[in-house]
Amino acid sequence: MSYVITSWELPSVPVAGTTHRFPVRHIYCVGRNYADHAKEMGGDASKEPPFFFCKPGDAVLPVEAGQRGRMHYPLATADLQHEIELVAAIGRAGAKRTADNALELVWGYATGLDMTRRDLQIEMRERKRPWDIGKAFAEAAPIATIHPVSEVGHPGTGVIELDVNGARRQHGDLGQMIWDVAHTIAFLTTMYELLPGDLVFTGTPAGVGPVVAGDRLDGRIAGLTPLGVDIVAHTAS
Ligand code: MN
Repeated sequence: MSYVITSWELPSVPVAGTTHRFPVRHIYCVGRNYADHAKEMGGDASKEPPFFFCKPGDAVLPVEAGQRGRMHYPLATADLQHEIELVAAIGRAGAKRTADNALELVWGYATGLDMTRRDLQIEMRERKRPWDIGKAFAEAAPIATIHPVSEVGHPGTGVIELDVNGARRQHGDLGQMIWDVAHTIAFLTTMYELLPGDLVFTGTPAGVGPVVAGDRLDGRIAGLTPLGVDIVAHTAS
């Protein structure tokens, strides 16, 4: 292949315990999937069908095993917020799945952060415009090593929490999801054919809040590699 500009490497995430990597295609995210977070965002906890938004695949910020990630404070916001989330990594193509067979598409799971320019998201929401600039930007999807289903199964319960500078900000249990992973993926496959390399961020419990340059984020999900990310000052090029 001969490109007319310099090409770049496929975005990818390390796989726990190996030197192999998971290549990233699309990033799908589900909104308001824990009742307590839905309430803090001004919604209610009624069981409506889930809704989705996207981040570009190259928004992924892979954190190598044993290391901490460095996320640059993004442009154009004064309210960068954290959302700790379970991430499902898709290994097989599938469309029109049901909750009974949706999990067959999942290759593995990881701890991730849906980083959000909240001021821009809310402004766009109120103006009935797309959320993209609030959710889709460089390094907006930090993620720790992926664990294969063959090792960790399909986590249905277990702690999910986030500390900022050592103080607990978010705490919940995977069992508190309004739509579990199987139902979330089933809904998603009614609208898109999921493809190998896709990542699905499955929503966040209550306690989202702002971070600034210099802050240290430490996320944990039971059974998975924890995710450490340091926010650093933006460096314009
Ligand atoms: Mn989220």
